[in-house]
Amino acid sequence: MNVMSMPAEGGTNSLEQYWMPFTANRDFKASPRLITKSEGMYLWNHQGGKLIDGSSGLFNVAAGHGRKEIADAVYAQMMQNDYTAPFQMNHPSAFDLASKLTHILPDPFNHVFFTNSGSESIDTALKIAMAYHRANGQGHRIRFVSRERAYHGVNMGGVSLSGMVKNRETFPSVMPNIVTIRHTWDPEAVYTKGQAEHGAELADDLQRHCETYGGGTIAAVFVEPVAGSTGTLVPPKGYLQRLREICDKHGILLVFDEVITGFGRLGHPFAADAFDVTPDIITMAKALTNGAIPMGAVAVRDEIYETVTEAAPDDAIEFFHGYTYSGHPAACAAGLATLKIYEDEGLFERAAGLSDYFLDAIWSLKDLGIVKDLRGMGFMAGVELDPIEGKPGIRGNNMQKALFHNGCHVKWTGDTAIVAPSLIAEKSHIDEIVGCIRKTLEEV
Ligand code: PMP
Repeated sequence: MNVMSMPAEGGTNSLEQYWMPFTANRDFKASPRLITKSEGMYLWNHQGGKLIDGSSGLFNVAAGHGRKEIADAVYAQMMQNDYTAPFQMNHPSAFDLASKLTHILPDPFNHVFFTNSGSESIDTALKIAMAYHRANGQGHRIRFVSRERAYHGVNMGGVSLSGMVKNRETFPSVMPNIVTIRHTWDPEAVYTKGQAEHGAELADDLQRHCETYGGGTIAAVFVEPVAGSTGTLVPPKGYLQRLREICDKHGILLVFDEVITGFGRLGHPFAADAFDVTPDIITMAKALTNGAIPMGAVAVRDEIYETVTEAAPDDAIEFFHGYTYSGHPAACAAGLATLKIYEDEGLFERAAGLSDYFLDAIWSLKDLGIVKDLRGMGFMAGVELDPIEGKPGIRGNNMQKALFHNGCHVKWTGDTAIVAPSLIAEKSHIDEIVGCIRKTLEEV
């Protein structure tokens, strides 16, 4: 059945076969939310309804939907060379994209490994950290540190690092030797715009783990500079700097998971720039291709690349890892076209310039009694609602549907909306998104 002719209500056979990701499948079938067209800041559903995209897809469509430049570049690449096996041979676009990326990455990052998603980037980063320490004669560094309320994707490495109970409890057998430090959400600091003044000492949890396990047994610490999928948790001032200092003291690698914060979300190319803290490894995905083609990447400091590659004998494969679709030509073409758009249109600077307007608009929701906390930085914000008593997450779920009905797509996590529009948003789009959220919250 053509989706345009699908009924809005009631089951239909054509909705039976697809087991959807992170979805209540039965509930969806009862009331499908199908998108058939997207352009700029807007989406259209199968009944012709127009919605504004308040979360830029899943925080990946940073340059807005339907970018012809990207589609043209992908088409041209596919007609020129649709696929090259990436092991022991390759194609020019992959080198071009790696090189372009190093121009916007912080200084010591001159080497990039390609993956197909954020989850693959995380598992790749885990392996790079292991390979680095092993090449340094430090193979005894077997422990990894993550945080409560962290989201690092859904592959086994990422789930092992995850601090979200729902993503873990069904899969109890994860990687061993992972320890967590506390998240940075502080009930005393609700409604703080940007970074809270206090809380840097939460980073000392890492020092305590070093004292418990021995800093020399820890390979790497994984952090989202701003935790995204658990509702935009902005780190307090000095926190990331403190983590960096402790890592340096103990020879631990610091990994920034920039799958959401990369590519201008905080008004800078990367969060590493926004917070002025240089990690050792940066994982990215999402906005790398503006969401048009799946792709992820892991950038490493020169020293990591050199240590791993130089440890291998001449002619030997230096890193036994890679995907059939690492650096796929279509993805590289999409990535190159996307980076060109970001640069030509100055979208990172644009987000920086509009951030105050965006955050002020979000903070205008503070008067609504149901709003329990507001958090945000750059062009991302969390609007946390009071949960329905005894039923955490249900209000968020209901709100997501109600917002959709009222003409706005926003991603929810539990009872928190994650608002993160495309970086092309005009003030009027921000007003429309926030207006729709207000109207929907007032209806509750
Ligand atoms: N890390 C972070 C910080 C993320 O936000 C996400 C996705 N939301 C991932 C990893 C996983 O990315 P993907 O869904 O592309 O596998």
